[in-house]
Amino acid sequence: MSDTAFAPSAIPTPIPLGQILPWAIFAGLLMLLAIYFVGAEEGATSLISGMYVHEFVHDGRHLLGFPCH
Ligand SMILES: [Zn+2]
Repeated sequence: MSDTAFAPSAIPTPIPLGQILPWAIFAGLLMLLAIYFVGAEEGATSLISGMYVHEFVHDGRHLLGFPCH
């Protein structure tokens, strides 16, 4: 049996909202871009001609449950 006890010596400091907000917006835009390419880059909503992008994200599309074919 161990005699060690959990006694954290470092106290986490909160990160100010002003420092998190730009990264949160950037991450949100990347997520929206990813969702667009996985979910809507096909047919009438396609920005890039051809089926290359659709075929590249096709497995992810089925994995996330987007309607496909
Ligand atoms: Zn499919």
